[in-house]
Amino acid sequence: MITGKNYIGAEKSATGNKTYRTFDPKLNLETEWTFTEATSEEIDKAVSEAANAFKVYRTISDTKKAEFLRTIAKEIEILGDSLINTYMKESGLPEGRAKGERGRTIGQLNAFANLLEEGSWVDATIDTAQPSRTPIPKIDLRKMLMPIGPIVVFGSSNFPFAFSTAGGDTASALAAGCPVIVKSHPMHAATGEMVASAVLLAVEKTGMPNGVFSNINSSGIEVGQQLVMHPKVKGVGFTGSIKGGTALYRLANQRDEPIPVFAEMGSINPVVALPSALVEKGDDWAKSYASSITLGAGQFCTNPGLILGIKSTSLDSFIKTLGETIAVIDPICMLHPNIYNGFENGKKELSNQGGVDIVAEYSEDAAPNYAKQKVLTVNGTNFLKNTKLHQEVFGPFSIVVRCENAEELTEIIEKLEGQLTGTILGSNEEISTFSSVVSALQSRVGRIIFNGVPTGVEVCPSMQHGGPFPATTDSRFTSVGTAAIKRWVRPVAFQNWPQEALPLALKDDNPLGINRLVDSKFTYDKI
Ligand code: NAP
Repeated sequence: MITGKNYIGAEKSATGNKTYRTFDPKLNLETEWTFTEATSEEIDKAVSEAANAFKVYRTISDTKKAEFLRTIAKEIEILGDSLINTYMKESGLPEGRAKGERGRTIGQLNAFANLLEEGSWVDATIDTAQPSRTPIPKIDLRKMLMPIGPIVVFGSSNFPFAFSTAGGDTASALAAGCPVIVKSHPMHAATGEMVASAVLLAVEKTGMPNGVFSNINSSGIEVGQQLVMHPKVKGVGFTGSIKGGTALYRLANQRDEPIPVFAEMGSINPVVALPSALVEKGDDWAKSYASSITLGAGQFCTNPGLILGIKSTSLDSFIKTLGETIAVIDPICMLHPNIYNGFENGKKELSNQGGVDIVAEYSEDAAPNYAKQKVLTVNGTNFLKNTKLHQEVFGPFSIVVRCENAEELTEIIEKLEGQLTGTILGSNEEISTFSSVVSALQSRVGRIIFNGVPTGVEVCPSMQHGGPFPATTDSRFTSVGTAAIKRWVRPVAFQNWPQEALPLALKDDNPLGINRLVDSKFTYDKI
């Protein structure tokens, strides 16, 4: 049942007087659910309970935490069709996407449970003592990763399951041993409340400390600001706009005790179409990219918003096929009128820049909030001198740049802001013949793709979903895949510590049976 209340640990609370509703973008109407924004007192209570819960939660074994994560996954599944229907109503996204994203969310929770059960993720590193070393004896030093404390997670608009209430940020923080306070996304607060109720059932069933998870409602930036400024909060996970992520990052750095903000923000995901790709497979790539640009109404952080090629007749023919294919794809409903309006404004602004030509635009009537895709083209000189054209338009939109030559192509890539992904379309040989292009691209991105599309992000240990600023605030980390746990921990070294008082991961007899770096060699052995 949707109550519209804040979940402060196990307690449901709505003491404030600011309310809001979510929106059904397909019906173009508000939903029936009303939510009450959290008050300052409720926010303080949620954070204080998280800080108290941390004292216990940080000592709970990885096996118990794994059971907690698996129970969350089961409880989400048990919510069945009513959760799927609520998701669809609040996002306008179709059933297949809802079910797929729920599967991904459950998969993420279980992947972190597997990681905890295996146990080696703590990077246990041991240098045993050498009392007879000269001239100075070597002391016993043992280091491992430990949780940093309560984390605030900002639910994203475009992934109501996988990057929201019990999504990747929450799953990774809970796996690390950190309590989580979710700042529910106002566009899908009912979906968020249902998932929160599943998490809280799992808290109860697995005996986790009260306060390890809270879900806070808000429809304005003040609640998020207060959460980030709260002295007991020790880290932040965010997915959304560059404006929002940067504002929160700056805020966190103004605190008396600055804290890390892992924000995943905008990206135009440049694609470089090298000559052989255009000559040999130009039509095929044009069709693949028409699908990739319009997938999910373009509401993906990996949407290909920029395609770069060297001017030629094969580039012209690629552009023609891309335009013809994309112009007739049926528009898809966007998440919310705010996202739709942002898309319309962004399209208009970039279309009005000097030297820009329209390749294709969906020209039939469409229902309210349905995104009419658009592709523009511009030459390299105009693109280089106008950084407005380098900005993300969130939706089914892309610009194809006709570069003069490989030098101009390289210069353009070097001048782009940091990106989540970059793609090379071409032959194996061209990786060498265009090495300066490839090397420039690699230095701007977190994931470099060869002969593929950037949309579709595999959840696995080797995934890197994070790139140089402003794609993310810290390109050393990923927000997708099990390595995301590293955002919520810090190394602690134990010097000359007695065996009985050491954490299990660092004891001589290796009771957890994990892989450790002992005297510079990886081993599962006891010492
Ligand atoms: P957003 O504006 O960045 O908001 C995301 C969350 O951050 C919301 O919960 C919002 O709170 C909060 N927030 C934003 N600015 C804040 C600030 N200055 N201080 C405190 N909290 C703040 O993103 P959105 O509403 O989800 O979508 C808007 C636009 O973001 C899209 O049109 C798109 O351009 C971009 N976006 C990009 C990606 C991507 O992956 N690249 C994903 C999603 C969205 P309130 O809503 O309560 O104000």
